[in-house]
Amino acid sequence: MKKYNIITHITTFCNYNCSYCDVVKDKKYHNSQNLDKIIEFINKNNLFIDRFKFFGGEPLLAFKDIKYIIDNVKDHSLNYEIVTNTSLLTDEIGKYFQRYFYIIFFSIDSENDFDFEKVLNFIRKYNLERKIYFNLIISPWKHEIALNQFFKLYEMWFKNFNILPVYYTKIWNDDDLVWLSKIMKIILDKSIIDKSIKLYWFQQNLWYNNSLLNKSIFIDIDLKIYYTDFVSTKLWKIIKNELFLENINKFNLSENLNFEDKQNLLIYYEKNITKNILWQQKLHKIMDYFSNYLNNKK
Ligand code: SF4
Repeated sequence: MKKYNIITHITTFCNYNCSYCDVVKDKKYHNSQNLDKIIEFINKNNLFIDRFKFFGGEPLLAFKDIKYIIDNVKDHSLNYEIVTNTSLLTDEIGKYFQRYFYIIFFSIDSENDFDFEKVLNFIRKYNLERKIYFNLIISPWKHEIALNQFFKLYEMWFKNFNILPVYYTKIWNDDDLVWLSKIMKIILDKSIIDKSIKLYWFQQNLWYNNSLLNKSIFIDIDLKIYYTDFVSTKLWKIIKNELFLENINKFNLSENLNFEDKQNLLIYYEKNITKNILWQQKLHKIMDYFSNYLNNKK
């Protein structure tokens, strides 16, 4: 039986304003009828859901809605995921993370404060060491900060990372790309020596860029369902209509779904975006090179 990864926009509000962020943040939350429809969708399709991810904006701004969904879904063994900027962690959230969540992505970058000690204490208090992946966001001009953050976390015994150079929204000049390559090599070599280091997209034996396009089904804030969460960004909004699948009340995962045309459209559009942007092509090549590099060394 085929299972799907689902991503839902639990709010489009964020308490940060990262310069590299392209997500449309129009400050919306779900009303209670919408939350009930999401619960109904999960209850109807739970056998076909592999992982269910809460996404934003900053999802923890809508923690009471997340809680409402989790508390009212019938299947208590569902694997939940979340991406958070870590600014709103509380004891209650820690308990929910511990009890219900399968993977938790903590995003860190060079722009926002990140309290290493506070986050470390939170993780230890709720035994989340194995569930946490650090989204290490690398911006051009700020490579050293990212590398320092990697080593600081590594020295604190964290081994799970998701390396995310900023795609599409920042220009990478040649010097920056050389720096990025150096950083990638240092981190990947470290992961070859220390096998307990996990690198999220790189684990999957896919080319890095393909894995970016290997998408989950996305429930938007208005409960329309799309082939990919990319449609939540300004850049990809242009083809949003073409990536629409169905409204939540009519969408059924048990049907034999075939998304090949959507996948092809995504690849085609992605190629079009990058066609005339040399630095973007080089960035893709670097990430694919290192994906190959890591898989060959294993
Ligand atoms: S990247 Fe994340 S934390 Fe930053 S503004 Fe966008 S949604 Fe908020």
